[in-house]
Amino acid sequence: METLFNKNSHSKPLIIAGPCSIETPEQLDNTVQELVSQGINLIRGGVWKPRTRPGSFEGLGSIALPWIQEIKNKYPVKFAIEVASAQHVEEALAHEIDILWVGARSTVNPFTVQEIAESLKGVNIPVMIKNPVNPDLSLWIGAVERFQKIGIQDLAVIHRGFSNFRDQIHRNSPLWQIPIEFRTHFPDLMMINDPSHISGKRDLVPIIAQKALDLNFDGLIIESHCNPDQAWSDAAQQLTPKNLEFMLSQLKTRKVKF
Ligand code: PEP
Ligand code: MN
Repeated sequence: METLFNKNSHSKPLIIAGPCSIETPEQLDNTVQELVSQGINLIRGGVWKPRTRPGSFEGLGSIALPWIQEIKNKYPVKFAIEVASAQHVEEALAHEIDILWVGARSTVNPFTVQEIAESLKGVNIPVMIKNPVNPDLSLWIGAVERFQKIGIQDLAVIHRGFSNFRDQIHRNSPLWQIPIEFRTHFPDLMMINDPSHISGKRDLVPIIAQKALDLNFDGLIIESHCNPDQAWSDAAQQLTPKNLEFMLSQLKTRKVKF
């Protein structure tokens, strides 16, 4: 079976980029067009967006799914979205979404993880599992185990940092020791770093991304928007595709053993 998340079949690092949220067909097209012109062909974009507090943008939902299909017809990309229920999975699969991810607020809930995993029984689709919002290694391990038990094989994990009371620097504290220990449990799983949600601000994204590569992470998932300051969610941390390109050109893929 061909798998996307195969450590041996990628020249490191694997790059996934795209907006926090899909907002309009134009925003999606403009962003993807620029990313594709840089050779990025794995695109992320939020459709259903669980936010911690009500009142901020929670995603357009189903109406954005046909826009993704149009983008996929126009550009040679694979598209990743977050799913948080069996209903989301059903709709995503019906609209040819290529990659799914489980968000940090879902990974904390074993019933939700189990529901999503069971809805994928017998389906061959790559899935990424974000760490839970809280620094609980077992919850993260448990989520991976639930998918593995159902028979989902094309798995990767995303380190997006952890809630912490009043971290003055990060939006979500990286607590690097947690992904490092996680790796000892699943040495063959690809581990992708999300510097956007760790940093919360665009100036810090390159430092976190470089640290992840120094620690031998296998990939990066980075929020990129054609007009970040006007973004409907996570405006402060998104990079223009041009700035993303510059940042990627500066990263050193040196490996450090630990
Ligand atoms: C996101 O990827 O835009 C997101 C909401 O992420 P997280 O689940 O890491 O908070
Ligand atoms: Mn986001």
